[in-house]
Amino acid sequence: MRTLVWLRGELRLRDNRALAAAAHGAEGLACVYILDDRLLRGTRSSPARTRFLLDGLGRLARDLEQRGQRLLIRDGRPEEALARLVQDARIERVHWSRDVGPFARSRDDAARIACEKAGAQVDTHSDHVIFESHEIRTRQGRPYAVYTPYRNAWHEHWALDPPLPERASRLPPPLPGLDPGVVPDADALGVPPVAGLPTAGEAAARRRLHGFLDGAVADYHVGRDLPGIDGTSRLSPYLRLGMVSARECVAEAFERVAADPRAGARKWIDELIWREFYSAILAEHPRVLRRAYKQDYDALVWDDDDERFAAWCEGRTGYPIIDAGMRQLVATGWMHNRARMLTASFLTKDLLLDWRRGERFFQQHLLDGDPASNNGGWQWAASTGTDAQPWFRIFNPTRQGERFDPDGAYVRRWIPELEAVPVEAVHRPWELPALAPGYPAPLVDHAVQRQEALRRFDAVRS
Ligand SMILES: Cc1cc2nc3c(=O)[nH]c(=O)nc-3n(C[C@H](O)[C@H](O)[C@H](O)COP(=O)(O)OP(=O)(O)OC[C@H]3O[C@@H](n4cnc5c(N)ncnc54)[C@H](O)[C@@H]3O)c2cc1C
Repeated sequence: MRTLVWLRGELRLRDNRALAAAAHGAEGLACVYILDDRLLRGTRSSPARTRFLLDGLGRLARDLEQRGQRLLIRDGRPEEALARLVQDARIERVHWSRDVGPFARSRDDAARIACEKAGAQVDTHSDHVIFESHEIRTRQGRPYAVYTPYRNAWHEHWALDPPLPERASRLPPPLPGLDPGVVPDADALGVPPVAGLPTAGEAAARRRLHGFLDGAVADYHVGRDLPGIDGTSRLSPYLRLGMVSARECVAEAFERVAADPRAGARKWIDELIWREFYSAILAEHPRVLRRAYKQDYDALVWDDDDERFAAWCEGRTGYPIIDAGMRQLVATGWMHNRARMLTASFLTKDLLLDWRRGERFFQQHLLDGDPASNNGGWQWAASTGTDAQPWFRIFNPTRQGERFDPDGAYVRRWIPELEAVPVEAVHRPWELPALAPGYPAPLVDHAVQRQEALRRFDAVRS
């Protein structure tokens, strides 16, 4: 059998079912990554993600070479590149891992048709999440609409039949006569620089997983909420591009739970289940990428104020915890989860701007930008989503800052203008403006905006 694996969001050798299936019994194998301009240069692409991807492809190519294989790089439309490979190398079977977003699904439909027309059979595999949406259903066979019962059902599934990770499979030799192509250089492609990006690749992902499970996970249930400390795994970019499998993360975390049943590892598994939940929501309801999950909220009235939006994007709202989060995002491509919740709430409930504007801005900057999790997070914060933040509970950015960044370490790291402000005022610098030169006064009055947000939600509900 002459086989091909099309690698997309699963850039790893270990626990990669599509790769293992393609390798199984093959006399020759082609491993290909296709650089798709619609993703690389589209309106939602992010320099951080593109740089991390290119770094990861270079490392994957080296990992494959060490195992006697090689990575083929192609560009253009996947359906055309795949059909050409199938014909040139007389490939009989093509494998890839399933993806759930509407763009991915129509791309994959086109790719399947092209491969079959060129003479190859296509097999797809489950690699991106542990359980796909059709595997976790209510007793009535419907998809879950709320996280907590979904999580309980997820745990029952795992307990019954844990889909344990496989070790790396043996790889057959590369099919001869195919031009390998090259992984392009990010600078040559004109991708803007991004400071402090983590090292990509499978080895770095595994080092990070083990470092976290040997350290911060023990106190994760407390530390995960404090943006000033390194209390979370920071594995999201690796999970996003499949440099480590979710199965491997969860299986290892369950081992820690068995050895030390304190709350940390258990809580961490529950966070990974949020990722599965949002993936299932997008799979079942692709319309959420454009509209509110709770359809009544499509009638919400949003302001259209470009100056306020620009102040939010640039971290100039005058609320330190909001500005620190946005500056962290723009400078590094990453933002702490607590800050994501607060900045998203601030955009929608304090600035009264449409959640879709913020969702898009996040996607254009995030290293881990993932359509399903990003949409889920935004709709949660805007109170339009599944398990939404109740519309009447609106985060107070000052109190949240004082509670989750009590010593001001996080806001001082990202806002140098606050360096001289004493800790008692670091989340309310307008009380000592002379000590925070250059830092803006609050863009809006939180108490006033809160009332207006409540009024708008009330109008839709009644
Ligand atoms: C408005 C908003 C937008 C978000 N956009 C994204 C996004 O584009 N991509 C993304 O991966 N996460 C997103 N999240 C979820 C969360 O903020 C990140 O997954 C987390 O901060 C990543 O850091 P970590 O790897 O250290 O997480 P950890 O706390 O170590 O959690 C482990 C893993 O669990 C998953 N996870 C944790 N929390 C969530 C969550 N609330 N929803 C979904 N998955 C979760 C991630 O894969 C994460 O890597 C968003 C949250 C909000 C509120």
